[in-house]
Amino acid sequence: NDSAAANIGVIGLAVMGSNLARNLASREGNVVAVHNRTHARTEELVAAHPEAGFIAAKTIDDFVAALARPRTAIIMVQAGAGTDAVIDQLAERFEPGDIIVDGGNAHFRDTIAREQRIALTGIHFVGVGISGGEEGALRGPSIMPGGSAESYRTLGPILSSIAAVAEGEPCVTHVGTDGAGHFVKMIHNGIEYADMQLIGEAYDLLRTVGGLEPDDIADVFAQWNRGPLESYLIEITAEILRHTDPATGRPFVDVVLDQAGSKGTGVWTVQTALDLGVPVGGIAEAVFARSVSAKPEQRAAIRRIRSSRPEVQQADASFVEAVAKALFASKLVAYAQGFDAVVAGAEKYGWNIHQDEIARIWRGGCIIRARFLSHVTEAYAQNPDITTLLEAPYFAQAVAEGEDSWRRVVATAAHSGVPVPGFGSALSYYDSLGADRLPAALVQAQRDFFGAHTYRRTDRDGTFHTLWSADQ
Ligand code: NAP
Repeated sequence: NDSAAANIGVIGLAVMGSNLARNLASREGNVVAVHNRTHARTEELVAAHPEAGFIAAKTIDDFVAALARPRTAIIMVQAGAGTDAVIDQLAERFEPGDIIVDGGNAHFRDTIAREQRIALTGIHFVGVGISGGEEGALRGPSIMPGGSAESYRTLGPILSSIAAVAEGEPCVTHVGTDGAGHFVKMIHNGIEYADMQLIGEAYDLLRTVGGLEPDDIADVFAQWNRGPLESYLIEITAEILRHTDPATGRPFVDVVLDQAGSKGTGVWTVQTALDLGVPVGGIAEAVFARSVSAKPEQRAAIRRIRSSRPEVQQADASFVEAVAKALFASKLVAYAQGFDAVVAGAEKYGWNIHQDEIARIWRGGCIIRARFLSHVTEAYAQNPDITTLLEAPYFAQAVAEGEDSWRRVVATAAHSGVPVPGFGSALSYYDSLGADRLPAALVQAQRDFFGAHTYRRTDRDGTFHTLWSADQ
């Protein structure tokens, strides 16, 4: 078949699909077939980018005919029903050995179910987490593919050709089978929520307690971005804080309504972590903080009834440095919790996930790209069985060095009435892990008292129940 010239196809040419198709076409060796339900969109893309050498397919049959075997197609359509419709169209036309890739933001459980369904036909179904938004899709995203090892032999080189590059290596790895890629992408987004919240709290503290103006805080963030905190999110925060609203001349951050939205992947992460029994307080607090911000009536009510505001504590010259240390320690907790969820998910769903590889592919092309991820890779490469990232030497030392500052900042925030759900919960988590005894003992006793749930003892093996009173 002469027309079967494309080694890869993209279906769904809205912003993500178009950019991904252009990225693919720009790499040596790729010939890209493109198709969209509404053909006008395909024509537009092809006309705007003659340099890409796209093969435009008007119908799904044309699209399938344009693909060389094993046919490999990346679906970039609306998650949910749209994705299912396109999967079915392809599955009807593809043959065993061909590869259907879902590059959208699917829930990993949907990906697992789809893979099971499609596998019966001998066709490979691969869920791929693609991070980095529109810009990433065009210039190089971090790519988290699941699916079979066999499909990765075909898909791996194609994905490697378009992935972001960090320290000379493409930010892609075969994460694990079926839903592993979408699972890890979900955790990435959860960590992103936590990181953003923590940065928000640092800004709030510098402004409210530190008395700095947005422009000064931009300088602080720019400076932080030259040290261990160096990351995309710190970098853009400096840029945002320096930005002035053209209409009013005020700092841009002051004209933005302080109610945060979300598209739901943070919620997915927390729901999943709850199911897995993994404490991801940092991520959960970040999701809740957005929910709290979006409750204007409750906020107004409490502002009204509050008789006086707490007196803001005076910051000394070391406060900025203390906030940096508190931010770094809190951030480590959030990442440690995220990686705990990765480990627990891998165990529950039977994925052979290498945590060091996950940290490696997050170093470029995604929102949480950061210098310190190299240390995460190093920690897990040295010892994949560490119980928590916080015990790895680099992180243990960073927390030890920052601990006093962390406590001081959280205490100052509490005294000054500055909300720090992220910093505070991270510190409590660390203190919980480090406590000699937890009040969980009392909770167990309470459970035994009212529900005969039994308890274990510190001094003997076995399960015990106390007859608390005659009428229990
Ligand atoms: P989108 O707005 O989510 O979806 C629009 C595309 O879906 C159009 O091509 C549309 O075709 C197609 N579509 C919808 N229902 C369809 C159906 N029943 N049959 C065939 N095609 C259908 O597009 P997007 O913003 O480019 O996002 C694409 C995917 O990437 C989504 O899953 C999204 O969640 C994900 N995404 C990821 C990131 C990221 O950072 N990773 C960012 C944004 C989006 P028509 O033109 O014919 O309507």
